[in-house]
Amino acid sequence: MAEVMSEATYVRHHKQKLVLVFSAMRHFAEELREAGWQVRYVRLDDPGNEGSLKAQTARTLDEIDGIERVIVTRPGEWRLLSDMEEWEGHFGCPVELREDTRFIASIRDFADWAEGRKSLRMEYFYRDMRRRTGLLMEGDKPAGGAWNFDQDNRRSLPASKDTPHRRDFRPDKITREVIDMVETRFPDHFGTLRAFRWGVTRSEAEAARDHFINDILPNFGDFQDAMARQEAFLWHSLLSAYLNLGLLDPLDVCRRAETAWKRGHAPLNAVEGFIRQILGWREYVRGLYWWRMPGYRETNHFGADRALPDFYWTGETDMACLREAVLHSRDHAYSHHIQRLMVTGNFALLAGIHPGEVNEWYMIVYADAYEWVELPNTHGMAIFADGGLMASKPYAASANYINKMSDFCSSCVYSPTRRTGERACPFNYLYWTFLDTHRERLKENGRMGLVMKNLEKKDEGELAEMRRLSDDFLAGIGAVPRG
Ligand SMILES: Cc1cc2nc3c(=O)[nH]c(=O)nc-3n(C[C@H](O)[C@H](O)[C@H](O)COP(=O)(O)OP(=O)(O)OC[C@H]3O[C@@H](n4cnc5c(N)ncnc54)[C@H](O)[C@@H]3O)c2cc1C
Ligand code: SF4
Repeated sequence: MAEVMSEATYVRHHKQKLVLVFSAMRHFAEELREAGWQVRYVRLDDPGNEGSLKAQTARTLDEIDGIERVIVTRPGEWRLLSDMEEWEGHFGCPVELREDTRFIASIRDFADWAEGRKSLRMEYFYRDMRRRTGLLMEGDKPAGGAWNFDQDNRRSLPASKDTPHRRDFRPDKITREVIDMVETRFPDHFGTLRAFRWGVTRSEAEAARDHFINDILPNFGDFQDAMARQEAFLWHSLLSAYLNLGLLDPLDVCRRAETAWKRGHAPLNAVEGFIRQILGWREYVRGLYWWRMPGYRETNHFGADRALPDFYWTGETDMACLREAVLHSRDHAYSHHIQRLMVTGNFALLAGIHPGEVNEWYMIVYADAYEWVELPNTHGMAIFADGGLMASKPYAASANYINKMSDFCSSCVYSPTRRTGERACPFNYLYWTFLDTHRERLKENGRMGLVMKNLEKKDEGELAEMRRLSDDFLAGIGAVPRG
């Protein structure tokens, strides 16, 4: 096992992600040793650290006699797979890439499902996965008579609702050492380490899983799309970082959630909603990534070409919703799905930020970010750069959506109901300008019909004014064409 600079720096990963990964590696190496395995572990600061996985493996092959073959798990990113595929020729000994077992479906399973299909909608893949695993099935019918209970899962947060207390994990000696190393070696990486709260071992991840299933899951569905001031987590599970790191098994997590429903501990809308995220979305995006790479990341459906504004790093903006999402990301290496999609993602889509810059930001700021999951969610779902391979329509929304699903607007200098004039919310004029700019393309999308009819009814003068406001606003925040 090796901590190498090339993996730690190919983007400026959030400091909490670096601590999580390195500390989990060090703890795992200890557990392996205690279980009787011989582990050769190279720390980042060890003299002679070669700096990359390839060079470190070459060095190990040089130093230890009699190694007959190299066995590694297939990595989660194309860049590293391309590198590993050259190892055999480079080392002159067999290199075996084994299936990554952190998933329920294999890459082949997804490709078999996707090949030759006209529509790749997640919902159909999810139904197949339900049948295959038997999760929430009553014979060949979905439990409760429906595949999806999302209509029950869109409530905004009542002012009186108390949010759950979250279990944190206190850094132990190993984690504290890693925190010091990351502060020293990666001072210019994004994020703070003040509130490092992640578990770093399998048993801590299991404790987080049980805390979620016992105390939080019952309310997961109702407020899944809600957002609130000073509330980064609400009823979300915070399990993605553990699942992606391999500290939790996805099928086991789903089965435990199903058991909670069977025992009457959590309602079906919550449990189905939660299982769909893991059995459906998580498996689906991973399959899509490997099926479409390497070309997937090069698409740019709307020709977006502006630079990412600085406030994505600093949080210094008057837009309360964006400020909140960026500060959650900085302080927790986390923000929940709707903030990623409908606040930072929606803004990047409407402002026409270049996909490369948006994808890099999302790869940096979250503890759970690996390209197999970050790229389809950002490139496909949030900014529609793949032209609709993944999402049936762009998730473009005006301030109305954010105002309905959160309490951000009540503390904002902008007004969510104004499209022009003083205090008009930028989401509003950017939204209508986006629709107007891409009018011909969007008209081809059947699901945009109603929205495009509303656009047709808009007064030309108002559209021109909104375009002027958009141009001024984007220039003011540095979201200028990259040229
Ligand atoms: C623009 C954008 C970027 C994203 N980048 C990442 C990323 O880098 N890494 C990542 O793991 N997720 C990513 N997601 C998906 C999702 O937002 C996170 O998985 C989720 O917010 C993690 O928090 P949680 O564990 O509390 O999730 P919960 O809301 O509690 O959901 C339960 C679990 O379902 C899975 N899940 C839910 N939605 C998705 C999804 N769309 N794709 C894949 N798995 C999903 C996760 O494993 C998650 O732990 C992104 C979404 C968007 C819109
Ligand atoms: S008014 Fe606009 S910018 Fe302010 S919080 Fe609401 S949606 Fe965000």
